[in-house]
Parts: sequence; C-alpha cells; structure tokens
Amino acid sequence: MAGDALIELRGVNKHYGKLHVLQNIDLTVGRGEVVVVIGPSGGGKSTLCRAINRLETVESGTITLDGRPLPEEGRALAQLRAEVGMVFQSFNLFAHKTVLANVMLAPIKVRKTKKEEAARRARELLDRVGLASQADKYPAQLSGGQQQRVAIARALAMEPKALLFDEPTSALDPEMINEVLEVMRQLAREGMTMVVVTHEMGFARSAANRVVFMADGRIVEDRTPEAFFTAPRSERAKDFLSKIL
Ligand code: ADP
Ligand code: MG
Repeated sequence: MAGDALIELRGVNKHYGKLHVLQNIDLTVGRGEVVVVIGPSGGGKSTLCRAINRLETVESGTITLDGRPLPEEGRALAQLRAEVGMVFQSFNLFAHKTVLANVMLAPIKVRKTKKEEAARRARELLDRVGLASQADKYPAQLSGGQQQRVAIARALAMEPKALLFDEPTSALDPEMINEVLEVMRQLAREGMTMVVVTHEMGFARSAANRVVFMADGRIVEDRTPEAFFTAPRSERAKDFLSKIL
C-alpha cells in the first residue's frame, strides 16, 4: 500500500430490505493509492462508493477517513463531502450555469471562498482538464466527455483528500472515453487517492495499484491488477473476466 491508510472500512454491513448489499466489507485505501472496483452489475459497487461518501448510512462496522469516523450529520458531514469528491456516471452539472460557474459554486457556498479567488481557481482547474477555452459555455454546449471533465474539475475545486468515481465513462460514446480516462490517469500520477468503479479494464491494468472484485455484496478478490488479470483465484472472477475480456 502506498503510504498510510486514508480510507478504511471494517466489517461494514448494509441491507436494502432483505438484500444484504454490503456483507462484512473490509477495505483499506492508502494515501495516494488508486483502487479500481470491478464486478457484475448489482454487486454493491455503487453502494460501497455512496457509503464512503456518507450518501448512504450503514448498519454496522466502521468507516474512517484519515483515522476519523465518518460524521453523522451537520457541518461535519458537509466537510466530509468536501474532503471526498464524487464523480458519477451522469455528470450532474447545473444546466443553467456556465462551466466556470459550475466549478466555482461549491467553494463559494461551502468554503465561503471569495468570488474572484474561486473564479481564478476554477480557470486553473479547467485548464488542467483541457477545457480552459470552454469556461463561458453552458453544459449542453459541450460533449459528454467534456462535461465529465468539468465534473472532475468541479470535484477538484474542493481540494478533496480522495476522489470516488462511479462508472465515470459508462454514459459516454466510445470516442470520448479516453479523454476522461487520461485526466484520471494524470490525477493518479499526481498522487490523488482514488476509488474507481469502472468496466475499463485497460485503465484498471495501467492505473490501478489494486483491483477489488466485488460480487453479491462481498469483496471476492483484492489484489494487484497483474495478479488479478493473469490469475484470478475465484470462479466468480474467472467467469466475469471471461465475459468481458
Ligand atoms: P452495482 O453498483 O455493483 O451495480 P449497487 O450498489 O447499485 O450495485 O446495487 C446493489 C444491489 O442493491 C442491487 O441489487 C440493487 O438493485 C440494490 N439497490 C441499490 N440501491 C437500492 C435502493 N436505494 N433501494 C433498494 N435496493 C437498492
Ligand atoms: Mg453501480
């Protein structure tokens, strides 16, 4: 593991009615580590991400960020959400705000950053994701790949300790997938701690420190990409890989 533990789950359980969607999950994500989560649909990957960002509550077990348990509510919870950015499959940009305004919004609202400073930072971030020239456009004027890069810039605007990505390229046309993955690879190289749910096996092989294979609410394998892809141990993973590779 790279560095010390930044995100730690111990014995985490959650049900939706009778469905045991997170079953005794133990997972450690080290500072600067990139963990790719893969597995069949319905396995609990999104629920896992949402639990880490406290968009879902869990019934038992502990989740800590930087050694502190996730807060229950109030200001501390807003602070946590700022510290763990999330990028979804659907970009969730504000349609009636410009690209620049989308990236400026959270620092102004949550951090009380001055408008000029937030705008300066937002332009820097848009430059970083290759969209400096698109700052004054509206989301609908951008391609899906561009919109997702804005969503990444918006998450970065809060200077998060970690970023969670839930199938960030699944809604994109094939020719736009790479521009988003390239931004994510760049973040990984810069040492961002990332949990990435994806079906992009090329990204998993090239950017992940670890691959977590999740099925039926359990972590079935948690290994290096090399070990996982060349010699999966479980029948479940072998079966999954035979279908997608
Ligand atoms: P994945 O992201 O791996 O496809 P999810 O975490 O989205 O899996 O879902 C895991 C299981 O939990 C699925 O069977 C799904 O239908 C169910 N589920 C997810 N969200 C809810 C919810 N809010 N209420 C009830 N069931 C849910
Ligand atoms: Mg999902």
